[in-house]
Amino acid sequence: MEEVQPLPFFLAKDLFIVALSRQIHLDFHCSELIKDIGNQFDAKSFKACLKKAKVNAINLFAKCHHSWSYYPTKVGNVHPNLSFDLLGKQIEACREVDVAPHIYFTVGWSSNDAKAHPEWSARNSDGSYIINGNDPKLVAPESPDSTSASGILPHFYWKFLCLNSPYHHLIYEQVEELCQLYKVDGFWFDIYQVHRLCFCKHCISDLRKQGVNPEDKSAHEIFQAAVMREHCKELRDLIHRYLPDASVFFNGTTSLEEGSNFRHKLYEENTTQDLEDLPTTWGGYDKLPMQSKFFLNAGYQITAMSGKFHTEWGEFGGFKHPDALRFEAAGMIAFGAQCNFGDQLHPDGKMDQCTYEQIGKAYDYVEKIEDYGIGGKPVSRLGVWRSFDEVSDEGLCKMLLEGQVDFDIANFSEDFSEYSAIILPSEVKLTEVVVAKIKTFIEVGGAVLVIGKALLNFSQATQASSFAVNYIGSSSHDCDYTKVRTPLKPFFVNSPFLNYTPALKVQALEGAEILADTYEPYFSRRVEHFCSHQKTPFKREKSDNSALIRKQKCIFFAHSLDVLYYKHGARVHRELFHNALKSVYKDPIVQVNMPSSGRVSLLHQESEKRYVLHLLYSPPIQRGRVAVIEDFIELVNVEVKFNFPEKIKVIQLIPDGCELPLSIDSENCTSVQVPKFKGHCLLVFSYVS
Ligand SMILES: [Zn+2]
Repeated sequence: MEEVQPLPFFLAKDLFIVALSRQIHLDFHCSELIKDIGNQFDAKSFKACLKKAKVNAINLFAKCHHSWSYYPTKVGNVHPNLSFDLLGKQIEACREVDVAPHIYFTVGWSSNDAKAHPEWSARNSDGSYIINGNDPKLVAPESPDSTSASGILPHFYWKFLCLNSPYHHLIYEQVEELCQLYKVDGFWFDIYQVHRLCFCKHCISDLRKQGVNPEDKSAHEIFQAAVMREHCKELRDLIHRYLPDASVFFNGTTSLEEGSNFRHKLYEENTTQDLEDLPTTWGGYDKLPMQSKFFLNAGYQITAMSGKFHTEWGEFGGFKHPDALRFEAAGMIAFGAQCNFGDQLHPDGKMDQCTYEQIGKAYDYVEKIEDYGIGGKPVSRLGVWRSFDEVSDEGLCKMLLEGQVDFDIANFSEDFSEYSAIILPSEVKLTEVVVAKIKTFIEVGGAVLVIGKALLNFSQATQASSFAVNYIGSSSHDCDYTKVRTPLKPFFVNSPFLNYTPALKVQALEGAEILADTYEPYFSRRVEHFCSHQKTPFKREKSDNSALIRKQKCIFFAHSLDVLYYKHGARVHRELFHNALKSVYKDPIVQVNMPSSGRVSLLHQESEKRYVLHLLYSPPIQRGRVAVIEDFIELVNVEVKFNFPEKIKVIQLIPDGCELPLSIDSENCTSVQVPKFKGHCLLVFSYVS
């Protein structure tokens, strides 16, 4: 993909304000079968809940996934069981207690609109509806749209609407009506998924007019992204005609889904970037670090979103323990993000006191630490080029996070001069411009680590000159084994160890130092030939192909270690990666040694003349389908070695507030020791400019 350019407009507008640091997303999707919508809403207790929880911004519902509006609309349909302007009352209450109101408005899923206008619904190529959450095991095959009393409806079962239909005009009119009725601080639009290609009659007709074959996935996706971008632009322009300072966000545009949103940069239509994530059930706690570093480098204000509930959206009566909420919130601040927790407002409109007491405990802590996170920029001498392949990127990210090796996202860098080393994940596709920049970086002494297929971005000549590698092809085996050579020892495995998928076949050329060899299996496991239960054992003679090659400061891993680590989590692969990394990356700004669930995040707050190092520790425990944060084991005497470009004047431990002494060892290495912490703490390194 093309390299992405930084968008400094956000910084220029100086929107880094702490006033949105503690947000709530007040989910409110109400069936028409439920009576007395909002009749228990009480402005006094609504305000009291928000104040008690130290909330300073909130997303309030104008229109929900059932297509009902919660204000007196003339364009759409007011919920049939709502008798007053609930949205208006909520906005008014927010203003009275200085909580910034933002309007939530659904777009992609709108149940009753889809029912009333089948011609606006998005369609698969066979003409069927594009449906989220469709599970053939749970929905009778003869009635895929069944909502009958006997049919079990899977969770998150919603039809998608198509923006390339008159539906867009309805949205436009409704949003204009909202702009005329309410003065709010922002709009939050939901459900934008460009990767779900629509074959409705409007899309097929327009695709044909443009000479695009609807079956051409990539061309179809470009068309769909253009439709979505135009829709977003029109809404943003409309809102800014009425409310020039309002933030506008389209949810889905920052999520990874097949990398489509990033390929088409739909996030550029947002004025601020919200990173929706439910780490307990959406794949764990290692997604925010890479997402936050990417968007902070792009120059945006970011908000990390999670939920107060145990699993996912729509879980009424689900609770996380307040300790877990507090830890999640600390993690958001640690990675430079504002916080947003999702809550489910009961259909009767009454706020849940208990929920706000618990969120209040988390936000009380956030209030103490937010100045040391929001407005910070990630800083590291190690750059990762993000590929936007979720598995490849996150596998690499996990290996770095688990070794407490801090890193930055390099995609916005002009010439990589801020880095000592750059890592290219296996699924990365680079433009010629980026390849040229990397070659220059190598020439001026930069270290480059190339994982697996990332090598194929370089010409054969560059593979030979920079990496001393001759690429032969892909392996014909279903696995292989690696054995490390002396330079990488001490290493905890001296025998050949298994790679669940094989290496690229490469030969080391002159000038290469072979750090590890590949051993092949006798044969691949097939129906006609197999050995024992799993993969076939290795032959005793090493193959002619190398597993790990170093030429000066360039390293090539023949295996997709990032993908292997994401899928299999073998410590042997992670340690191989770290040993190789350490051999060429020798000047990290900070070095911390914590257990593998420990996380570090280093931020620079230039205007405050300080660096902030956040330390986090609480291992998520997998229970059923949920990753639970519960155990907060005290870590003691955590040593932090540091090497900042500026002279450090004072080191302060937060939230304790105490000053910590700096020590210098015989090799002139500076360090500080954190006596103890539980869950989270941060170190403030103030410098003299
Ligand atoms: Zn369509």
